[in-house]
Parts: sequence; structure tokens; C-alpha cells
Amino acid sequence: MVFFTFILTLQLLSSQDYISMRTEMVEEQIIKRGITHSATIDALKTVPRHLFVPSDLQIYAYHDRPLPIGHNQTISQPYIVAYMTEMLNLKSSDKVLEIGTGSGYQAAVLSKIVKEVYTIEIVPQLGKQAETTFKNNNYTNIGCRIGDGYHGWEEHHPFDAIIITAAPLQVPEKLLNQLKEGGQLIAPIEKNGQQYLTLYTKTKNKIKTKQLIAVRFVPFTRHKD
Ligand code: SAH
Repeated sequence: MVFFTFILTLQLLSSQDYISMRTEMVEEQIIKRGITHSATIDALKTVPRHLFVPSDLQIYAYHDRPLPIGHNQTISQPYIVAYMTEMLNLKSSDKVLEIGTGSGYQAAVLSKIVKEVYTIEIVPQLGKQAETTFKNNNYTNIGCRIGDGYHGWEEHHPFDAIIITAAPLQVPEKLLNQLKEGGQLIAPIEKNGQQYLTLYTKTKNKIKTKQLIAVRFVPFTRHKD
């Protein structure tokens, strides 16, 4: 009996409390910290983050922290997902490329805001798992593939925005080439031993760079060419 009550409690937690945990997360971690882009806020309110983390960690899905997703990788802290999304100034007609699918959560958030999302993951097991999550939860405007994001996704370029969610030493030239004129790219870039989110804006003749907040992301890895 005690055992069944325990199971029932867990089930009740998963079926009812996640919505209120998510609402509280958005209030406390997103709005109170200054995120104002309404489409970003709505997306974080909508996407069930707990479905993107391993089942034994679901109860922590709305905590103010990154979480392990296996293969030495992590799902970013909710605030960082919101911050990166807001900085891209997205419109509903946009086409966005993400490098580093991981759990698929960031792509799912983007998919609620823009028309099309393309996302690339280098670890096959993570890419496949994310694809299953997208399918099971009806995310129909996300294209995903397994591969080295260094090369971008030529067939679908140019992109209105590009988001890199692993830390490279510098932004691969090919990715900047696949960005539309007027488009923006955000990535964690290391400088003097510390990573900073960096925003690149492509204009007709040059790339403008702006250093933003300090962060900690997993490294951008490479396949041998
Ligand atoms: N955006 C993810 C978090 C990403 S963690 C989420 O919402 O969960 C960073 C991911 O980038 C990891 O899964 C890692 O395997 C992947 N990655 C690292 N280097 C890569 C590369 N060159 N191409 C594609 N993915 C890469």
C-alpha cells in the first residue's frame, strides 16, 4: 500500500505540478531577471522542459540550473535559453539554425517562436533521442540531423539567425557565410579563460561583434574532416 501511494504521488507530481513549476520558473527566473521579449516568455511557458531531461531528473527540470543529459553533455539553465533566444530578436517568419541539439529543448523553444528550426547534433545517441522527443510531442517545424555543425546546413541557408550552444574557440566562417545579411548569430566564445556569449550581426560589408554575459558551456567538438 505504501509503495502504491508512493507511485501515485510520483504520478500526480508528473501530471499536475509541472505546469505550476513551469509557471513559477518563468516568473522567478525569467521575468524577474529582466527578459521582456514576449514570444520568448510565451515559449518558455509552453514547452514542457521536463520532457527533455532524463526521467530520473524530471523533478529538477524547472530548477535554476543546467542538468546532465548523458554523454557528458548538459541542457542549459532556463535563463540562459531565454537570454540567448531574446538576444536574437526573432520574428515569426524566421528560419533559424542551431548547432548542438543536445536534449532538443532550445530547438523546441525556438520552434514556438519562428517558422522553421534546423538543428544539428554531433553525438548520434543525443540526436536520435531529440528526434524522438520532437516526434512524440508534435514539434513539426524542426528539422534535425546528426553531424558536425561546423559545416552548417548548406541546403537550408541563408538563416535569419544562428545559435551555437557549445563553445567553439571562434565562430566557424561557414556559419557566418550561411547567415542572412542583417541576421544575427549568438555563441559562447572563450576569451582569457572565460566564456562569454557573443552576438555577431552581419551587415553588408562587415560583421559587428558584441560581448555579452559570462557563461559556461560544453566544448564545441569536431569530426575529423
Ligand atoms: N541546446 C541544447 C544544449 C546543448 S549542450 C539543449 O537545449 O539541450 C551542447 C551540445 O552540442 C551537446 O549535445 C554536444 O554534443 C553538441 N555539440 C558539440 N560540438 C558540436 C558540433 N561540432 N556539431 C554539432 N553539435 C555539437
